[in-house]
Amino acid sequence: MGKIEKSRYLMQQAEQVIPGGVNSPVRAFQSVGGIPRVIAYGEGPYLVDIDGNRYLDFCCSWGPLILGHADKDVVRAVTEQASKGTTFGAPTEIEFLLAQFIVEHVPHVEKIRFVSSGTEAVMSAVRLARGFTGRDLILKFEGCYHGHADYLLVKSGSGLATFGQPSSAGVPTDVVNQTATLPLDDEQLLEDFFKTHGDKLAAVIIEGIPANNGLLIQRTEFIHTLRRLTEKHGVVLIFDEVITGFRLGVTGAAGYYGITPDLVTYGKVIGGGMPVGAFGGRADIMDQLSPIGPVYQAGTLSGNPVAMTAGYVTLQKLAEDGYYSRLEKRMNTFASYLSENIQDIPAQVVSIASIFWIVFQESAPRAAHQINRQGIERFNTIHGALLDEGIYVTPSGYEVGFISTVHTKEILRGAAKTILSIIKEYLS
Ligand SMILES: *Cc1c(COP(=O)(O)O)cnc(C)c1O
Repeated sequence: MGKIEKSRYLMQQAEQVIPGGVNSPVRAFQSVGGIPRVIAYGEGPYLVDIDGNRYLDFCCSWGPLILGHADKDVVRAVTEQASKGTTFGAPTEIEFLLAQFIVEHVPHVEKIRFVSSGTEAVMSAVRLARGFTGRDLILKFEGCYHGHADYLLVKSGSGLATFGQPSSAGVPTDVVNQTATLPLDDEQLLEDFFKTHGDKLAAVIIEGIPANNGLLIQRTEFIHTLRRLTEKHGVVLIFDEVITGFRLGVTGAAGYYGITPDLVTYGKVIGGGMPVGAFGGRADIMDQLSPIGPVYQAGTLSGNPVAMTAGYVTLQKLAEDGYYSRLEKRMNTFASYLSENIQDIPAQVVSIASIFWIVFQESAPRAAHQINRQGIERFNTIHGALLDEGIYVTPSGYEVGFISTVHTKEILRGAAKTILSIIKEYLS
């Protein structure tokens, strides 16, 4: 492996002026140790750092880059738009085109509004659900991440519903005592909860496929129970598809389970690598939004034309025939090659669509409390070795990996061999 002196030096300098040297905490490599690589540029499936080292990128900016880095169509469109001006604070045609594209392709999105991040999308959707129902209480699931809004940073106990224990300093208990938390994958707890609290509940929010704390693919029956109970009690079901939206196909996780959520939130892929979020769903709920309804929501850079352009070009390319099935096929080959060849080490290679997660334990978990912490730590110990061999994975065993349309079969096969040899060398 090449030198990382420039990254090391720049990170030291950055720490003087940016807390931890980073603008989002996991980038600091705290769980895995080592020096975060300062990136100079991206090229297809590769990242190149400022010391000139090249890495196969399985992070893909934490999900957005489904076409890989610097896709030529996206770059061309964004450059052209930027040359006409970057923001106007007035309506543009491109935001209408992206909205229309999504409404035409996603049956459960009748209306949509754009914001600038996934966090903002979720905050807006929850406010809207509360405004629509006239209720305050919300329910989330343990291990699901929905951005960093105060009332969604809630720690949860295992087993039973817990109310209001903030998982971050600076979040008042009064703000989170309207947030209930339950474990995933347990219909009985859900039924019991709804019996007591169903009629006080404004919304239930769940990640389409929980993918921020391992990859916890849910059973269809669990999701259908959730849909049935929310419907029965007049509760808004919010599918947080910030990761899964336009990654699990055009209809996302809702399409995968065959359900119709009331609201969905988007981010990541929808912005084609630019800062975009969105929330949408039933027209009668969406029409509660300001200026035509009583629920206030706004943004100076919302629907930003450069960002909308990146999203529009990306989604248009993806909707072309066969993109998603090709991605899924490649991922299946990659994941099964890995799992068949990790011998004598308890490991699971969990994957869906173009998302994967490697966890070192006996069986694949479906709920946060089934994740084995030692298994996560085992992953963390090989992170540096993977980097040394030119493989860039997310710097925490709890985080998933992504592939893009430019991660070819050959590239993935080579990477799988490298990953296997490192696992054997370090973990046998
Ligand atoms: C990333 C993510 C968010 C937050 O999006 P940001 O753009 O980081 O604010 C919310 N929900 C889910 C499911 C996410 O994966």
